[in-house]
Amino acid sequence: MVDGVLALARRYRPLHISIVGGEPLVRFRELDVLLPQLSKMGIAVQLVTSAVREIPKAWSQINDLFIVVSIDGLQPEHDVRRTPATYERILKSIDGHKITVHCTVTGQMVGRPKYFEEFLSFWSNKQEVKQVWFSLFTPQVGAEGEEILSPSARAEVLREFVKLREQFPKLVMPDSVIEGYRNPPKSPDQCIFSRTTLNLTADLKGRITPCQFGGNPDCSQCGCIASAGLKAVGDHRLFGVLPLRSIFKASDQIGRTTARMLRNAE
Ligand code: SF4
Repeated sequence: MVDGVLALARRYRPLHISIVGGEPLVRFRELDVLLPQLSKMGIAVQLVTSAVREIPKAWSQINDLFIVVSIDGLQPEHDVRRTPATYERILKSIDGHKITVHCTVTGQMVGRPKYFEEFLSFWSNKQEVKQVWFSLFTPQVGAEGEEILSPSARAEVLREFVKLREQFPKLVMPDSVIEGYRNPPKSPDQCIFSRTTLNLTADLKGRITPCQFGGNPDCSQCGCIASAGLKAVGDHRLFGVLPLRSIFKASDQIGRTTARMLRNAE
């Protein structure tokens, strides 16, 4: 695994790598070797974990390593869903670290009075928590289920976040992300995040397309915080005139054409 990831890092020279689950910490011995090497290569790494086991203390000294802990709402729901990575276990595992709390909002959480306020109150008060992110549940096209937010629930939760960010400075929810959630990309082709990332399966051989969600995700209901942020960047107009998306598209096209020419010349 270590050699495989390093080989990919040398080949693609990414600015950023996200390591996600399953549960990456089950491979903590390999990560103990890999993470410092990626750091030396100048690559920022985001490790997304349930914090089911203790995060090695030494990792807090690795430059550009960002630990994100997935927490599925308040303790009663979270503990049922994530056992053995319960609240109690997480609090022990993150001791000595500065982490980001990441919660994916589902339909069941919306409409419960003060739900997000309680969540933010609990996690913002922990010194180990540097910031709190919220994504919104992203369904597949045509899917049904309680997790899916209705358009009105989506609008309601975004209004609530705008209010709560004043009260809880650790909540990262800038206007640009709110705007991205309100107007997500129309398709994977329009999604800068999808077009600038490469998603690989755990064996490092298979590709997950069109984005990290795989399958046929419903972009019109996308709740990915990274996609929302990049959508806002793409919509930003340089000098008030030219949308950055146009520059990205031109640059992307040149890059793809050049890569094709180089492949043909080989
Ligand atoms: S990240 Fe969101 S907008 Fe982008 S391709 Fe995936 S579902 Fe669509």
